[in-house]
Amino acid sequence: MKNEMIKIDGSYGEGGGQIVRSSLALSLVTGRPFEIDNIRAGRKKPGLMRQHLTAVNAAAEVGCAKVTGNTIGSRKITFEPQTVNAGKYHFTIGSAGSTTLVLQTILPPLLVADKYTKITLEGGTHNPYAPPFDYLDKCFAPVINRMGPSVKMNLKRPGFYPAGGGRFTVEIQPVEKLDRIELIERGDITARRAKAYVANLPEQIGHRELKVIKQRLNWDKNWLELVEVKDSIGPGNLVTAEVRSENVTEMFTGFGMRSVPADKVPVPLVKEAREYLAAGVPVGRHLADQLLIPFAMAGGGRFRTVPLTMHSLTNIETIKKFLDVDFEVEKLDKDLYEVRVIRNKK
Ligand code: ATP
Repeated sequence: MKNEMIKIDGSYGEGGGQIVRSSLALSLVTGRPFEIDNIRAGRKKPGLMRQHLTAVNAAAEVGCAKVTGNTIGSRKITFEPQTVNAGKYHFTIGSAGSTTLVLQTILPPLLVADKYTKITLEGGTHNPYAPPFDYLDKCFAPVINRMGPSVKMNLKRPGFYPAGGGRFTVEIQPVEKLDRIELIERGDITARRAKAYVANLPEQIGHRELKVIKQRLNWDKNWLELVEVKDSIGPGNLVTAEVRSENVTEMFTGFGMRSVPADKVPVPLVKEAREYLAAGVPVGRHLADQLLIPFAMAGGGRFRTVPLTMHSLTNIETIKKFLDVDFEVEKLDKDLYEVRVIRNKK
């Protein structure tokens, strides 16, 4: 059974790149080979883009895997891992491709590998449609560390779209098996911080973004910080609102774009932050989809969150193809959900 090819339909649910990344991660965790077709059929430009291809190749390197179809635009790949090798890795993602999504692909097997790993990643570290470095460092890694392993991240230089050129390292001290944990209560809020990062652009952009956060979230001016990034090779701008609570930290991000005026950049993140704060839950929408794989690897645990996104619902179905677990998603109240991982009886 173990070596039977698992068949994945890449057009399932939202039909995006997460199905590819999660399949790669779980294939390495379980040692089970898979084939996926209709890759990213739900996206405007279907098939593997550079960012996904780098994830495939990085996963192949970590798992000494035999791969077919790993070319740009490919809509089908097969992936047969051999053994997961912990150790030293260096991945360079062309232009500003997302380094954090490559990490999302190879981290799960390395959390339960037989020895320490150090990875250096180069490329985009703060990209739209991907977790910014700060998010993985402050929100995601602390939860993973509560499950047993030690994941330490260190930003050497930020890389913004389109110039990229960022760099960070990740050190992983693995465990044999992840512990089951519960994230039910947020606890009291201990701090709020908003940061506007401005690289090779007028500072005024950041001031305007922070003003919107101050006004719309009613945040104190002492909680706002303008960060002038000196060592970026290209221009870049993002604004984050961080909510630190007793049991978890959440962060909401808006990315500056050429066509979007500075005062519009924080508008979606303000909405997301308000929904999170009103729901009273510990886990926001992005952390929810990112915790599904580690919780499934632990074979249990539960967390409370806002309504699950299509991204999370698709991820659940991908995980069930590889691991013998089920997920119970219960609506407890308007905008309040509990996700429970249940290990299936053999
Ligand atoms: P595509 O098919 O275009 O590659 P995708 O399926 O790979 O899309 P996205 O919906 O772009 O995926 O999401 C990628 C990942 O990035 C998800 O795990 C999501 O939670 C995370 N993510 C996106 N934006 C943020 C953000 N602002 N903060 C934290 N995490 C984020």
